[in-house]
Amino acid sequence: MEGFDIRTLALTNLFLSVLLGLGSIVFSRIDTSFRSFRQLGSGYFLFALGFVLIGLRAYVSDFFSIIIANALIVAGFSILIMGILKFLDYPTQHCKNVTLTLIFLLISSFLYFTYINNNASLRIIIISAVIAAQCFFSSYKIMRHKEKLYRLFTRFLGYAFLFCGLVFSLRVYITATSPLVNNFMEAGSIHAMSLVAQQLVVITSCFTLSWSASQKLVHKLAIQATIDPLTQVYNRRAMEEFAEKEILRAQRNKSHLAIILMDIDLFKQVNDNYGHQVGDKVLQEFALRLKNSLRQYDTLARYGGEEFLLLLPNTEAEIAITIAEKLRNTIAQPVFELNISPPLSVTASFGVACVQGDKINWQQLVGFADNAMYHVKANGRNKVQLHSADIHPLKTNDLLI
Ligand code: GH3
Ligand code: MG
Ligand code: MG
Repeated sequence: MEGFDIRTLALTNLFLSVLLGLGSIVFSRIDTSFRSFRQLGSGYFLFALGFVLIGLRAYVSDFFSIIIANALIVAGFSILIMGILKFLDYPTQHCKNVTLTLIFLLISSFLYFTYINNNASLRIIIISAVIAAQCFFSSYKIMRHKEKLYRLFTRFLGYAFLFCGLVFSLRVYITATSPLVNNFMEAGSIHAMSLVAQQLVVITSCFTLSWSASQKLVHKLAIQATIDPLTQVYNRRAMEEFAEKEILRAQRNKSHLAIILMDIDLFKQVNDNYGHQVGDKVLQEFALRLKNSLRQYDTLARYGGEEFLLLLPNTEAEIAITIAEKLRNTIAQPVFELNISPPLSVTASFGVACVQGDKINWQQLVGFADNAMYHVKANGRNKVQLHSADIHPLKTNDLLI
């Protein structure tokens, strides 16, 4: 680290902290789900303020250039860490209490080692030990985070904090075993190295968090594009994507592919008699019951208003019928959580269609299930019907109640 000038490093730390602090705070205003960037930005600003005070050593009192400056740097680290933990959905309440205690102890000990027993080396040891502890704690918490979406980012940032913690620990060791430091600005390379490590944490935390924030947004959009917000099952668009792959797979492997199309019976009456909100609750309960009955490889989607579609790979017609019968029974149980007396129950009509490696397209397959389902509607509802060549497309007046 020969040739690394502490003043220059402190100045670049200052510029970086101001720039990234400003950027993070502006970013936190763009999207409310990124509030943690405000803390990140505040952390950087506290660093910047700390470095300004250290730089003004010749012009302001020791109280500001030593005690307040170092307290600001420790507070900056704490707020930065809290912002990161919050971003990762960790609770941060206890971090606030630890930070306040740390700052109180730091200020007390710095007052003692400045005014009563002036010892710059001991001050360096104390602040470095505190920062090393903060870095190891963050590295541990960040690396332990299990969310797959952030895996790469958490590794990156976790190692940056680990590196910074090791540098500050080394600084404790070297300062404790070297002659007393008189002037920090003229001190040896380990002090310059610690500023570089801090810069690394500032830069890495900012870019990894921005990087994962954009991943978070992409993920949110992907969910919005594929999940039905009311029932939390896939929507039609997502189902069509899955189906395309499953049809190709069935053709390739000459395997069976079945679908079950379900439509709630006389659902308009539920809305008319109990209101739309109850109707929505029934849809949610309906979807939940179906979801709880699914096998591992089955896919469920809300295909239309009160129509749901189940995709069953590798499933023969007889098995699909058995599954549909089981679902029909599950659905017909009263809808519990509505507190309506007598308990509200609904039934559904089920159309089943199955292919085996045929050259068939999705629209045709759904058309078959649709025909079978409408056949049930025309024949009393609350039944399961497998599509067969005998079922002809229905005319509208077949459906009169
Ligand atoms: P059928 O047995 O022939 O299927 O009769 P039905 O009353 O279920 O069929 P119809 O197509 O006449 O009515 C479907 C109703 O589903 C009408 C519509 O208001 C309701 N619906 C569709 N989507 C929603 C929704 O998201 N929430 C609620 N509450 N109702 C919905
Ligand atoms: Mg319908
Ligand atoms: Mg209906």
